[in-house]
Amino acid sequence: MEPTASSPAQDARRVVIVGGVAGGMSAAARARRLDEHAEIIVLEQGAYVSFANCGLPYHLSGEIAQRDDLLLHTPGSLAASLNLDVRTGHRVTGINRHAQKVTIQAGEDTYALPYDALLLSPGAVAVRPPIEGLDHPSVHTLRTVPDVDALRDRIDELVATRGHTRPGPSAVVIGAGFIGLEAVEALTARGLQVHLVELANQVLPPLDAELAPLLAAELTAHGVDLRLGVSAQAVRPDGTKPITVGGAVCEPGKGNSPGAVTVTLSDGATLAADLVIVNVGVKPASALAVDAGLELGPSGAIRVDADQHTSDPHIWAVGDAVEVTQAITGARIPVPLAGPANRQGRRAADSICGRRTTPQASVLGTAIVRVFGLTAAITGANQATLRRAGIAYEAVRIHPGDHAGYYPGSEQVHLVASFAPDGTLLGAQGVGRAGVDKRIDILATAIRAGMTADDLAELELAYAPPYGSAKDPVNMLGFVAQNVLDATMPQWQATDLDNALATTLILDVRSRSEYAEGHLYGALNIPHLELRERLNEVILAAGGRPLSVYCASGVRSYLATRVLLSQGFDARNLSGGWLTLTAVHPNL
Ligand code: FAD
Repeated sequence: MEPTASSPAQDARRVVIVGGVAGGMSAAARARRLDEHAEIIVLEQGAYVSFANCGLPYHLSGEIAQRDDLLLHTPGSLAASLNLDVRTGHRVTGINRHAQKVTIQAGEDTYALPYDALLLSPGAVAVRPPIEGLDHPSVHTLRTVPDVDALRDRIDELVATRGHTRPGPSAVVIGAGFIGLEAVEALTARGLQVHLVELANQVLPPLDAELAPLLAAELTAHGVDLRLGVSAQAVRPDGTKPITVGGAVCEPGKGNSPGAVTVTLSDGATLAADLVIVNVGVKPASALAVDAGLELGPSGAIRVDADQHTSDPHIWAVGDAVEVTQAITGARIPVPLAGPANRQGRRAADSICGRRTTPQASVLGTAIVRVFGLTAAITGANQATLRRAGIAYEAVRIHPGDHAGYYPGSEQVHLVASFAPDGTLLGAQGVGRAGVDKRIDILATAIRAGMTADDLAELELAYAPPYGSAKDPVNMLGFVAQNVLDATMPQWQATDLDNALATTLILDVRSRSEYAEGHLYGALNIPHLELRERLNEVILAAGGRPLSVYCASGVRSYLATRVLLSQGFDARNLSGGWLTLTAVHPNL
């Protein structure tokens, strides 16, 4: 180990990087491209560097068939291509800022390594919820290559020993966030019966509550047993408690695999499982920074400036471990996503190499997940965040086709976007079977550019029938927001239902058959094409009250609202229509 402990060569600057995956490896590669002479040492505590952690769920499912496809580089390939000194199995245990040295544990050996510049990219650590029995060997996490190896081994074993005398293998996934949902999809693809347990009352808590039921329905349609609004309390070896399978109580231990467990929920239910995946979020891996006395933010993440500098001039930090400024609210929080980590790594390398940097922009938290046939994506602030931050906004909802309706295969896209009173776009979310990714990426770009409803309305986007519409859904969001903001179309919200029922006449302008399938109690049904001829009925039924108009998606009721307003009625259109109403009030 002699060369490792030496001082940097006199003429070569030594850059030491802690963490060899997203942010760390991005920084190492950029630093080499900028400085051919620097000595660049990457220290990674795990056995792998530069692996595709975002691809792990897809190897679990079998979609990425070859494990090696996840391993983008090895220390050998990085030495050959970038002349990097990459040391796996080397854990940094301390930083001596005064001496500019890190202490490293490598197997039985401990050594100190001086640095000229130190970059911290240690990532995040999984939050360990207070659940009894989490040390049971059937309880897994999904964060690393060894994690996915262990899960695949367990599933292979379960599938191989599946008999005809007992139910198929089952799993409990605790946490319905992005990675939890990816795990659910993967386990289902491997033939497991999956129970998904989530403390919040909805799946994917960062998604606006009104869109989450779409994902819940998709999960249920694929056989997932959803347990929302409950927490897991205990994981116990099978046999210590009676278990329920499909609602039926079974004898303890009977018919389950070796290693099976029961998971007890806060509502008293017990779930039988052959394996459990816990994924309830992450927190910044800031222990090294804390011990070294680096400044942290209130969130517990490492405080950095716009160049990724920590409070020590010789130390930079990036990735899941640092705090960023959240766009829209300005809050300082960690945002554990691959894109920011990679960009920060590149920026830190620029700064370390004395280059002009592109200062860290505020982070939108743009994220996307596939849930079986659906895609859900978010960018900017969601409505709950805006409310918490006291930021005034108008939310608009549309449910157009992803491409022209007359061209085969058009799928509905459910989009919600929030605008400031001056028209500035603050956030957007989408769920659908096609075209969600491109709309959210456009909207993320629009937020970054500070665009308004007027700007969205004027965006010129590529169109031919298989791809979009002459009025793209993004343009439509702009049009609707313009109408709302300039009072061309006053709207009412699904969350205002009680008030609307109590104080207004509810006017349902859908067809008679749609009305017959379900409608709001007391609603007057006048299909929108008949409205002009039947205004007297509206006057009589309203008795001087304002009108709350709705249709299926908000389009026909917009037309009706315009007719009514022009005739002097006080009318408002339901934002998002019946689709949004039933999502917000599932028991209607
Ligand atoms: P990491 O990439 O996690 O790297 C940190 C490394 O530092 C780790 O390998 C760790 O072992 C090492 N380390 C920590 N402490 C030490 C130490 N003291 N000494 C030496 N080494 C140390 N993001 C997306 O945007 N989209 C996705 O689809 C997505 N999917 C994901 C799926 C999974 C299963 C996981 C786990 C994450 C996913 N992410 C996704 C998040 C994304 O991977 C992270 O935000 C990103 O990797 C963070 O980069 P980082 O460099 O901060 O940390």
